[in-house]
Amino acid sequence: MPIQILPDDVASQIAAGEVVERPASVAKELIENSLDAHATYIQIRIMQAGQSLIQVSDDGDGIPSEELSLAVARHATSKIHDASNLFSIQTLGFRGEALASIGSVSKLLIISRPKKAEFGSRIEVEGGQLTLQEKVGVPVGTVVRVENLFYNVPARLKFLKQPSTERNRINELITRYALAYSGVRWQLFQDNQAILQTSGSGDNREALVQLYGIDVARQMVEVTMEDNETKISGFISPISLTRSNRKEITFFVNGRWIQDGSLTTALLQAYHTLLMIGRYPMAVLFIKLPPGELDVNVHPAKAEVRFRDSNYIFSTVQRAVRRALLAYSPIQPLSPPRWQHTSQPQIIDPAWQMASELKSSNGNIETQTSIESPQQSSLPSGQIPLLRLIGQIGAVYLVAEGPDGLYLIDQHAAHERVLFEQFQKLPNKNILSQSLLEPVIIHLPPQNAQLLTSHLSFLSKYGFKIEEFGPNTFRIMAIPVLLIDTDPASVVKSVVEEFEEDETPLQGEIESRLIARICKRSAIKAGQILTVDEQRALLNNLETCQSPRTCPHGRPTMIHLSIDLMERQFGRRGSR
Ligand code: ADP
Ligand code: MG
Repeated sequence: MPIQILPDDVASQIAAGEVVERPASVAKELIENSLDAHATYIQIRIMQAGQSLIQVSDDGDGIPSEELSLAVARHATSKIHDASNLFSIQTLGFRGEALASIGSVSKLLIISRPKKAEFGSRIEVEGGQLTLQEKVGVPVGTVVRVENLFYNVPARLKFLKQPSTERNRINELITRYALAYSGVRWQLFQDNQAILQTSGSGDNREALVQLYGIDVARQMVEVTMEDNETKISGFISPISLTRSNRKEITFFVNGRWIQDGSLTTALLQAYHTLLMIGRYPMAVLFIKLPPGELDVNVHPAKAEVRFRDSNYIFSTVQRAVRRALLAYSPIQPLSPPRWQHTSQPQIIDPAWQMASELKSSNGNIETQTSIESPQQSSLPSGQIPLLRLIGQIGAVYLVAEGPDGLYLIDQHAAHERVLFEQFQKLPNKNILSQSLLEPVIIHLPPQNAQLLTSHLSFLSKYGFKIEEFGPNTFRIMAIPVLLIDTDPASVVKSVVEEFEEDETPLQGEIESRLIARICKRSAIKAGQILTVDEQRALLNNLETCQSPRTCPHGRPTMIHLSIDLMERQFGRRGSR
């Protein structure tokens, strides 16, 4: 065959193959248009999993009637004007091909009226051909109706999955956008059944409740971090709330839902060692960065982006998540805490209880300090009451009794916490250095030696006196008093590992991470039999901790079985 330029409708159908793969991709293009048009209300109606109808109505800016036929032409857009705009894109659309593509593989109807226009207009397109244009009286906004999707592309129809799968994809899509745009009031109907409705209040946690239910929403930990012009925000699940797959991990970059394996990897690394193998967190994270840092023009369906400095973005995501996780102290008791210092009867106000739980899950360190309800001398949230030691079991756990039941304490995690807080309390860390009777010599691989060399003065603030002692060799002269019972070489090596993990950590964060690492290495181990005095000392120290319920890495130090729970379990009291 000779070379020919393809007719327009064939070219459109080819382009449509990339942009509209399935009903959910049509829905995505349409809601993105509504969002670009500043809609505050978006309604989506789906019939037969999108095959017979996908309709999106909004109260946005509308399309002037003289531009309506252009909206369905290929490469027609109001969002960019020249190539330079491609690197400062603030809208979700910019390619100007969605409506044209959709129109070439369906029966498309658009009704629209801009705010200032007296009338609206309506056009119809079938298989890419404009079949009707007329004036109509309609409310302000736009309705786009897509019927008989892929009626003229039978091959595409065959590739669609089960209706239930296609329906789910649409639900997933709308749910995510509803979270990302919580200021928009969303409604989704499938076959006339309401699937999702949000209030549009703009409160992200409220949107979480509407989408995931109160139970999950209450547990999600808030992430916020700003670094230069990059902002990371959103919600992640605590380590106690996991899924068996990565499906509930969502990233929005500059308001755009992005499927990006490396962002997911960055997130998973932040949870490293905190989750069991095969378990995954839930997360909805919003990344905002200057448009110039991003190339959005890499994928026809705009589901991928390229970052100018991807390493920076990944490490920032990781740090933001890690920091939120470490600051978060899960609510450990199996029933709400009811103890108090005095023996007066205590009134529990459920609203207060919930408010404090919500507060303590917002990922802020400050919330671990006291939250007092009026006229009530209960313990500050997160702290534990005085405990009576019962003993040690399995050389792993301590058993103790509190005013409200039984406590099982992980001796290793508990000791880690105690050391961690003792370290942080030291006013001037270097006065508490203890010289070794005999200096210890260590050898390190060259890259680690370099890392250690560059951190020697930093370490001296914490009581480590280490000198270079030949190539890749160091002499440990002194270590912090707190660590005097440990093996100096292994402590220093683990410190170097911590430097290795992230080469550009934030100041302040490295400090607590370093201390956490040292404490982990120095804490008593599971399997170590403790004398009664040692057990008691550990308990007493734990009682004085600010955040006794978790180890510095966020794992629980204890399980609390309340009397209330025991009574119910033993059938002494009917369940409420
Ligand atoms: P793009 O979004 O990439 O510009 P589309 O084909 O999706 O391309 O839409 C073409 C144009 O139609 C948009 O640039 C916009 O001006 C207009 N448009 C589409 N949908 C709407 C809507 N819901 N409200 C207002 N204008 C719309
Ligand atoms: Mg668009």
